[in-house]
Amino acid sequence: MRPRAGRPALLRAATLSAAVALAVGALPASGALGAGATERPGWEASVASLLARRAGAVERGDEAALVATMTEAPRRFVEDKRRWLRALRGLPLGSYRLELAAEGFGDLAAGLLERVDADEVHLVQAVERIALRGYDSVPSADDVFLTVARRAGRWSVVADDGLDDLDLRSSRNLWDFGPVDAVERGGALVLFHQGGRAAALRIAREAAVAVRRVRERWPYPWPGRVVVAVPSAAPELERILQTTFDVGPFVAFAASSVDRSNGWRFGGHRIYIQPETFFRYGSAFRAETLAHEVLHVATRSVSGPAVPSWLDEGAAQMYGESRAPSGARLRAQVRAGRFPGRLPEDFEFVDSPTIGASYDASYDFVAWLGRRLGHDAGARLLRSAGAEDSVGAGTRRYHLRRAARTAFGADFTSLERSWAADVRRRAG
Ligand SMILES: [Zn+2]
Repeated sequence: MRPRAGRPALLRAATLSAAVALAVGALPASGALGAGATERPGWEASVASLLARRAGAVERGDEAALVATMTEAPRRFVEDKRRWLRALRGLPLGSYRLELAAEGFGDLAAGLLERVDADEVHLVQAVERIALRGYDSVPSADDVFLTVARRAGRWSVVADDGLDDLDLRSSRNLWDFGPVDAVERGGALVLFHQGGRAAALRIAREAAVAVRRVRERWPYPWPGRVVVAVPSAAPELERILQTTFDVGPFVAFAASSVDRSNGWRFGGHRIYIQPETFFRYGSAFRAETLAHEVLHVATRSVSGPAVPSWLDEGAAQMYGESRAPSGARLRAQVRAGRFPGRLPEDFEFVDSPTIGASYDASYDFVAWLGRRLGHDAGARLLRSAGAEDSVGAGTRRYHLRRAARTAFGADFTSLERSWAADVRRRAG
């Protein structure tokens, strides 16, 4: 993520998606909330086959087959989904899957506010996986919450917003907000809405340059292909990212989904443009922003849930951007006696008055590591932390200390202390 120039702000949407997935995954798969995942009742098999038929229809772009999975749905829902399928046609869709979440909530129908008139009703958590042809080696994996109903022996999907009031929202993307078109240049695919072609072509050219730059500067292999999505307005972006904060101070986001049933791998990497800020800047700032976001995408091949935000953001600035930040915000913090003597926590990158200093500190630490342990030291630490099995026992800190020992044979706490002392010295 990258903030507006001269304004303190930033966030990393991948952290966001990871946090959301963790919150969902941490809840019991069975028990109080409904049917257990181990003993699947008969209806689940019927619903699983309904979802498979629905996914097949989407993948083939077969409108009649899609409508056939919604025979009992209200007309408005059916019309919405017809438009949605047409909007999807603008994408180079490689594959589309819809499956009951293996570690999901079971049945959430008790949370439905509106009664559904049917013989049997369930509300299921499903995972929607989308792979864009030539771009997604690991598909996106996003939660959708579907109300399914049986009437006269036939199952159908009747809604996908039944739990919005509980803030369990189905994934939405550009294609839920209108027709989508795509342009492609040098490893960059840009998705946009009607009227956005000229801007999309400019972004595609700028993103292709960023891809080349990151290929030269990031030391580990990555596919070298990025998807950039351009929403029409900030509220559309906020709904897609399911943010709980104002996206106003930001210019772009890098987001990946986390596939809990696939070893917690990151997939479906996307760069989202904040359309109400990005286009106000000149080409130099846009190029730096895209290089920063493309670097985030490049790291996803070796990253994982144990990688803290400061390492992610430090790496994006060190290996993505071409100019080092001035460090003025960190120096000001030290001189005001407010430097905490440690690296920033994840929340200090979102809604925090010290967000600018958080970015400065992240860069400063990664650059400091580079001076002591070699230019690629930050990248090595990121790869090492990314390989940690963060789903198992141990805090984030524990995994980070293990990662530092693996990468440099060094104690992370000592490194952090030496760095903090150096920061104070340099600012003094
Ligand atoms: Zn960033």
